[in-house]
Amino acid sequence: WQSHQPQAGPLSASGLVKHWTAVFEKRGIPEARESSEYIVAHVLGAKTFQSLRPVLWTQPLTAQQLQGIQELCNLRLQRMPVQYILGEWDFQGLTLKMAPPVFIPRPETEELIEWILEEVAQRPQAVGAQGSPLILEVGCGSGAIALSLLSQLPESQVIAVDKKEAAISLTRENAQRLRLQGRIQTILLDVTIEDSWTHLLPWGPMDLIVSNPPYVFHKDMEQLAPEIRSYEDAVALDGGEKGMDIISHILTLAPQLLKASGSIFLEVDPRHPELVSSWLQSRPDLCLGLVAVRKDFCGRPRFLHVQRFVP
Ligand code: GLN
Repeated sequence: WQSHQPQAGPLSASGLVKHWTAVFEKRGIPEARESSEYIVAHVLGAKTFQSLRPVLWTQPLTAQQLQGIQELCNLRLQRMPVQYILGEWDFQGLTLKMAPPVFIPRPETEELIEWILEEVAQRPQAVGAQGSPLILEVGCGSGAIALSLLSQLPESQVIAVDKKEAAISLTRENAQRLRLQGRIQTILLDVTIEDSWTHLLPWGPMDLIVSNPPYVFHKDMEQLAPEIRSYEDAVALDGGEKGMDIISHILTLAPQLLKASGSIFLEVDPRHPELVSSWLQSRPDLCLGLVAVRKDFCGRPRFLHVQRFVP
């Protein structure tokens, strides 16, 4: 009896995945199998290994493909995140260009988007975002949050700010690729600089402020994975002593930029709900209240809804 299934030789896509998975495992590279599958699929022009036509799994690869795989796997051996190696990553169904050192969108941030969309759909008045909401995003990075909201809220407009030129140009490029550039305004701006927010006033009062700010406690920075520490811009992560540096700036400027019952949605560290709540109690002048906390898919408090109230 002879099988008609061709055997996957060492120079086939399957063989290469097997080989590189073993190499990565031996060298202690996290997500060894996923990494090698993504790289092999990418060189063969597919997004995932599973989406490759099965005939391509067993067929011998060309010398050029083998060399491409070798080069990209060498980057992974140097702990480069797979998102930078591939040069693109999906977020909320959008394919976004990724480029070091601009922050890579994390899966939990998709839950922030889902929460905002839920609130805007179910309680637009309570959230302060009826009709065509005007949204400010602080720290837009690759544009993941801004562009997902724009694509799922067809009437919305976004003002996206970031203090890094690399982030602003990547957001612009992603907006263009997704043909969303008509509803987004990108501004190079550092909210921690005194009065910088006044540049945002002409854009009018916002319905929503959204941010996945740098919120890692400074002392935790050195515990981050090598993928993060060596490749991602630390300014997108380091939130200062208690991770509150940028969060407190956002909350401080919010009352001047938000409409009367506008909302702020933030991604934070699990220790932040308490810290933000007591910080807000120390600043009653801001007229902001923490109205809801949501957990992420790991069950950790991760998202905050802060609302402006008129006294
Ligand atoms: N959760 C992020 C991480 O993976 C931190 C994100 C942030 O500071 N905004 O490190």
